[in-house]
Amino acid sequence: PVVTRFAPSPTGFLHIGGARTALFNWLYARHHGGKALLRIEDTDKKRSNQEAIDAILDGLDWLGLDYDEEPVFQSQRAERHAEVAHKLLEAGHAYKCFATAEELEAMRAEQRANKQPMRYDGRWRDRDPSEAPEGAPYTVRLKTPVSGEETIDDCVQGSVSVKNEELDDYIILRADGTPTYMLAVVVDDHDMGVTHVIRGDDHLNNAFRQLPIYRAMDEIEGGWPVPVYAHVPLIHGSDGAKLSKRHGALGAETYRDEFGILPEALFNYLLRLGWGHGDREEITRDEAIELFDLSGVGKSPSRFDMKKLENLNGHYIREADDAKLADLVAKRIGEGADLELLAKAMPVLKTRAKNLDELAEGAGFLFAKQPLEITEKAAKFLDDESRGLLRRISSALSGEKNWTMEALEATTKSLAEELDLGFGKLAQPMRAALTGTTTSPGIFDVLVLLGREESLARIDAQAS
Ligand code: GLU
Repeated sequence: PVVTRFAPSPTGFLHIGGARTALFNWLYARHHGGKALLRIEDTDKKRSNQEAIDAILDGLDWLGLDYDEEPVFQSQRAERHAEVAHKLLEAGHAYKCFATAEELEAMRAEQRANKQPMRYDGRWRDRDPSEAPEGAPYTVRLKTPVSGEETIDDCVQGSVSVKNEELDDYIILRADGTPTYMLAVVVDDHDMGVTHVIRGDDHLNNAFRQLPIYRAMDEIEGGWPVPVYAHVPLIHGSDGAKLSKRHGALGAETYRDEFGILPEALFNYLLRLGWGHGDREEITRDEAIELFDLSGVGKSPSRFDMKKLENLNGHYIREADDAKLADLVAKRIGEGADLELLAKAMPVLKTRAKNLDELAEGAGFLFAKQPLEITEKAAKFLDDESRGLLRRISSALSGEKNWTMEALEATTKSLAEELDLGFGKLAQPMRAALTGTTTSPGIFDVLVLLGREESLARIDAQAS
């Protein structure tokens, strides 16, 4: 059975890149009827914080990514990591390094001066630990193979090889006995039964360094198969540069709260960012589960495009349930928003909106208080002549028995004919008087939504 994991480091929020990694892992597990797991890599105590953990969990929840077990907190597993380090040590796959910090600094300075790659030179690899002073502190280093090469058949990158001589004997246990990240990842993935590691391709180099731990542990106790790897190209900005805040490398909650994006839209957009299924743009959650595979993940970095995200968002807004939208929009409007009226208005409001703020803005006229705020543009339609027209409109509409779209339209049109004016000549001042703006849903929709009393009051307020 397939077991995937999303393993964020809680040093920041759930940014777009992390969210996509989470999505791909989740989809792969769901597609195969396997397990999706979550591991919080909170070993860097200085940089990890609870706020970030909460934001990540909240972001995943909002996107609808659920997990089959309680999250694993890496920091709580330090003892187990150390246990594996000691097994490696006892079996001769790792060794104690007593080199002091000054010594290592001098080694690096020399390598720098000779323009050599900076890596540990293995000075304690074959030395007898008894040569070290009594009680001297030591780190535990992995004894990586010195010759030959390793090849990874990566599901996305294809076959990639690295010469073993390029890997140094890196630290798996620090002098204070705490595990390093490189060791912790392998031990956790093994213990969680992870079969497929899907992550950003910035981790491809790490994979080569992690392999020798699998090989050694498999030799020692068996049952440590190397997982299947899929290293997904990172997301770039619209200009092709590495994604930064300026490009939209922001937390999921920013997309939700500030940009008014629906989770369905971000889900769909992230899916399409790096994974393709023909030209299909709009893919539902169920379809995504059915269709997702690693062979559809592209090898080149994808570019983040806010416009595309907003277009998808517009699509999901139009598809969304009106009561649900009303709820979300009411939260943005704040006090005075009437849920029922909002839901009733939603079909005409949502036809063009690309995000929830546009929806809230479009709904503003429904809850406007007298005296209405009139935009500069709208004021142009409220000159003396228009105010006279509004008086005629008011008297025609106040005689209206049926406050319905059809009746209101018929009455207004016959008034336009009577005055020998185009319908637009009446609609413009009406819109200005009713909404204070020059853009709104159709004028009869506006009249019906506002109702007789409020409509007439607003028209009368501008009429002379
Ligand atoms: N914690 C790592 C990160 O956030 C991911 C480690 C992994 O996926 O192996 O970049």
